Amino acid sequence: MSAAYGKGDKGKATRLHSIIIRSLGRCEACEYKCACADKWKHGVCKLQCAHLEGRTASGTRTQLRNAFSLCASCHRKFTDKPLTFNAFVDSSWAAEYKDHLVVLSRPMTTGQKMDWEEELVRLKAMHDDLKNNRLTIKEARELENDE
Ligand SMILES: [Zn+2]
Repeated sequence: MSAAYGKGDKGKATRLHSIIIRSLGRCEACEYKCACADKWKHGVCKLQCAHLEGRTASGTRTQLRNAFSLCASCHRKFTDKPLTFNAFVDSSWAAEYKDHLVVLSRPMTTGQKMDWEEELVRLKAMHDDLKNNRLTIKEARELENDE
């Protein structure tokens, strides 16, 4: 596993979240389409998982609502231009989840700890549903954390 995702279940969940987001197969900003033969194995394509709230916040790190599938070029542009990124977010499906993400991304209080084992189980089940066409990314984002 790439060191970029981190260790243990947290790393596995982060990697799976990225795979799920990029399985969209296109850049959500410029509509660049991935040419990889298998959308679940992005070996060489330019799609990246771009977070709204950064990866340091455990509560939002692996939320589907907290990430876009972006091409490397758009990801770089938005990283350099936060105001442009903000305008893009406001014009996208993510606009309605902004307040929710702000709450979820708050630092956890003492004694609170993210259960990465449980989160990995959640993402694996979601991955399975997506792979077997029982769910779309759009639906998964809509359903997430509404319970
Ligand atoms: Zn793009």
